[in-house]
Amino acid sequence: MLEQKPRILTGDTPTGRLHLGHYVGSVENRVAMQDQYDCYFIIANVHAFTSPERMENPAGIRESVLEIATDYLAAGIDPAKSTIFIQSEIPAIAELTFFFAMLIPFNRLMRNPTLNEEIRDKGLGDKYSFGFPMYAVGQCADILAFRPELVPVGEDQLPHLELCREVARRFDIIYNKVDPHTEDKDFVKAGGVFPVIQPKLGRVKRLVGIGAPSPETGQLLKMSKSLNNAIFLSDDPDTIKKKVMSMYTDPNRKKATDPGETDPGKNPLWAFHETFNPDTAWVASTREKYKAGQVGDVECKRKLVDVLVALIDPIRQRRLQYEKDPAEVLKVLKAGTARANAVAEETLRLAKQAMKQDYFPRTLSL
Ligand code: ATP
Ligand code: MG
Repeated sequence: MLEQKPRILTGDTPTGRLHLGHYVGSVENRVAMQDQYDCYFIIANVHAFTSPERMENPAGIRESVLEIATDYLAAGIDPAKSTIFIQSEIPAIAELTFFFAMLIPFNRLMRNPTLNEEIRDKGLGDKYSFGFPMYAVGQCADILAFRPELVPVGEDQLPHLELCREVARRFDIIYNKVDPHTEDKDFVKAGGVFPVIQPKLGRVKRLVGIGAPSPETGQLLKMSKSLNNAIFLSDDPDTIKKKVMSMYTDPNRKKATDPGETDPGKNPLWAFHETFNPDTAWVASTREKYKAGQVGDVECKRKLVDVLVALIDPIRQRRLQYEKDPAEVLKVLKAGTARANAVAEETLRLAKQAMKQDYFPRTLSL
């Protein structure tokens, strides 16, 4: 039975389609884990409204919800095993967000490095809404509404998950009288409603984008839907070729440092080869030749085009099938959202009970 497996929760903001960063950071893990775990994948549409331009284009957000769901199915997430759902249709998440906001000191939230990185890299300046930092609180609710054991994410999410762990501890200590000295893994056993969740990083913690380094930090930026530096799981071979051939390469090629590391160096080309090229012998020897100036960008880029087309094209082909049938994708979302509500409502009931705000029981239907 699904219910007896340990649960995982993760998801994406519908701000575009899925890219290679999502794939190695999280989606690949999800596909591999769906037999062993009871999987919940949230499409966080409310969080898409945190961007000043996007909030004025709700049709774009709606379209992206379907795009992401289509990408999930194309990448191999099986709706018979996993639950895919839409955040705004889970009222318990919004309700928990409000309660959780009381458990997080405001200044603690504003020191969150991921929020600050987003403010910098997305050029939000001082124009972001109150809802922007609020999304980090909301994400605690997205996760804890499902009381999961593991949360598969990319490295950028770790500060958010730390916040989520703090919220769970504070809630359980205050409202369930869990002893503050309890080990993280034992909070639920000790009577807590919420588990102190564990992040699970993907094979690549932070895939870089195809563009030049940030002028401010000198570091390559992470691949991101919002930064216009992504190769998408839905890109056709021509688009992949154009993107790879125009990919930034460091004029000083000796700086082609190890791309798998947190500091990816200055050359996305090798980050991609190391991450995606199954011919590791070719990568090791050509990389040395490249550093020595014995092989050019174009040859290495051509090879990368072949590697990426081989990975992406089967996904794109499956995607074309789902694209023909958006009604089927919506059906998957509706069934998933109904299943997700059953779990989240139960969590909310337990939380309200612990907080002594359980006045009238309710049932919810779509
Ligand atoms: P946005 O620009 O809208 O923030 P994004 O591309 O950062 O979009 P998210 O929806 O914020 O994508 O992230 C979804 C998941 O994918 C998270 O677990 C995140 O850590 C992971 N992820 C996103 N980009 C990368 C990346 N470049 N490398 C590894 N993991 C990533
Ligand atoms: Mg992001």
